[in-house]
Amino acid sequence: MASSKTEADVRRAALLLSVRRRGIRDPHLMRVFEQVPRDLFVDEDFLDIAFADQALPIACGQTISQPAVVALMTQMLDLASHHSVLEVGTGSGYHAAILGHLAGRVVSVERFRALARTAADRLKSLGLENVEVRVADGRLGYPPRAPFDRIIVTAAAPEVPPALFEQLLPGGVLVAPVGPQEGPQMLMRYERMPEGMKAREVLPVRFVPLLSGIATVL
Ligand code: SAH
Repeated sequence: MASSKTEADVRRAALLLSVRRRGIRDPHLMRVFEQVPRDLFVDEDFLDIAFADQALPIACGQTISQPAVVALMTQMLDLASHHSVLEVGTGSGYHAAILGHLAGRVVSVERFRALARTAADRLKSLGLENVEVRVADGRLGYPPRAPFDRIIVTAAAPEVPPALFEQLLPGGVLVAPVGPQEGPQMLMRYERMPEGMKAREVLPVRFVPLLSGIATVL
């Protein structure tokens, strides 16, 4: 028992190291990464590598993002504890959990009911009551809770859907992978300035596609 605990600790430490290697040093963010158990968000088949710095397959043909990329995207958001955040693409719920520790309230939308349900259960088991999971097409944003201080998109599209920019408050930040499904995608950071949207390219990335509509299979 004691030895497997040690082994888990070593794996968790490796995850923190990978995040740090990306140049992420914010102690609050690091503490949150320490607190959120990634093994709760991966499928049983991948428990062995739950703390490896890699994206892993989850149900419905989707993926849980690579921890270092989750950390980088979160850092790009410049979150404060009073912020209202929209996440498009709940997936496993892992990134939503990280956001829930740092922001005031989070609504995360997912087009697969099965993923949304599992993620909501996991977030509840962690006591994250400020995170709400909804089944919706995130390309339309989430009007019932708009506008938002921060918006994060965890699936790639050739262009950021206009509704998302429309639901971003002045001074707000939106982080999204932008690019075609099979082609090069760029992690972008947008900030709503008085004179318009300021865009910055951050890192080439690879994400599952942002698709339209609610999934009908599950
Ligand atoms: N943030 C997730 C990563 C999920 S991968 C995590 O931490 O695990 C991206 C997710 O976006 C997938 O689950 C996919 O089903 C979802 N998605 C794709 N298009 C969407 C849309 N239009 N609206 C809502 N969710 C969408």
